[in-house]
Amino acid sequence: MRMKAAILEKLNAPLVIDEVDLEGPGENQVLVKLVATGVCHSDIHCMKGDLATAPPVVLGHEGAGIVQEVGKGVKRIKPGDRVVLTVAPHCGTCPACVMGVPTSCETDPQTAMLMGTMADGTKHIRRKNGEEISHFMAQSSFAEYAVAEESATIKVRDDAPLDVVCLLGCGASTGIGAVLNKARVKAGSSVAVFGCGGVGLAAIMAANLVGAYPIFAVDMFEKKLRAAGELGATHLVNASQEDPVARIAADNSGGVDYSFEVVGSPAAMTQAFHSVYPRPGGMAVILGLAPIGSTFPIEAWRFMREVTITGCTVGSIRPAIDIPRYVDLFMSGKLPLNKMVSAHYPLGRVNDAIKDTLDGTILRGVITFPEH
Ligand SMILES: [Zn+2]
Ligand SMILES: [Zn+2]
Repeated sequence: MRMKAAILEKLNAPLVIDEVDLEGPGENQVLVKLVATGVCHSDIHCMKGDLATAPPVVLGHEGAGIVQEVGKGVKRIKPGDRVVLTVAPHCGTCPACVMGVPTSCETDPQTAMLMGTMADGTKHIRRKNGEEISHFMAQSSFAEYAVAEESATIKVRDDAPLDVVCLLGCGASTGIGAVLNKARVKAGSSVAVFGCGGVGLAAIMAANLVGAYPIFAVDMFEKKLRAAGELGATHLVNASQEDPVARIAADNSGGVDYSFEVVGSPAAMTQAFHSVYPRPGGMAVILGLAPIGSTFPIEAWRFMREVTITGCTVGSIRPAIDIPRYVDLFMSGKLPLNKMVSAHYPLGRVNDAIKDTLDGTILRGVITFPEH
């Protein structure tokens, strides 16, 4: 089928809206008509050449829409389903999947995501002259339609607004899952979140939901700290003005039970680890993607107090279980994801959405498409 899509033709240049052909769906894939798709910093990383996926590529990886058609072998999904497309396609049979951590799947879907193809190595997007264009995270949702893996396609309840729950495809689930699935933060325990972009704000919301106190929000920008305060942070720390480790220790008798690093900055990773109480049960969770090859120093004596430091990919969620659960929490008013969406754009203004995201003038921008 022919459709409009936003194509990254070359690095460090605006996306180009053009008509392309989409073929599919193949085996274990579904065809989805997009209703909404969030703009995430990973799209921008790809535009700068920080990721392995090379142009030409159709970006977009926080899509939500309505299933039009399913390929051979698809069992869970049927035409008409309203779905969120996640960045966690998975095989279901490798050790990580069997252990219940499909976000760290070790086989084809994850490799394919980086190389710009679907899990089976094919590409479904072509220019009118037949030249292939790459997929982004096996999704490419800056387009009117997308082909997605069944494992990454999660049915959600019919009354959920897709222009909000689309954020659960990547950023929001990463922050919420880090708190609920990875750290399993308990009521009354203390939390610090380093970085108050979309992922950090989602982590703060989840920490607030489970009754953590205090909740420190650390960022360099007052506007982001204000948003963090509105979403449940109780202590705001501007890291451009004071040392967050010293401030957290001073305000909370030595540190917090759980810290989360969301920035992808080696310096912030050190600070996140050093902000945890040196006592058993203390945990620093690293979510941010630091430049390949970078390292960060941490004080070794803290391990004698059994403090843990761990990574966490896409919130360590089990997509088919956790995303519908997070949607229910949002719909019941316990997880105000809608407060993160500060602007809507048509596909034709995708470059404005990217610019506003980069400038930090919005929390999250969402591209929307006519539903009928
Ligand atoms: Zn993302
Ligand atoms: Zn797997």
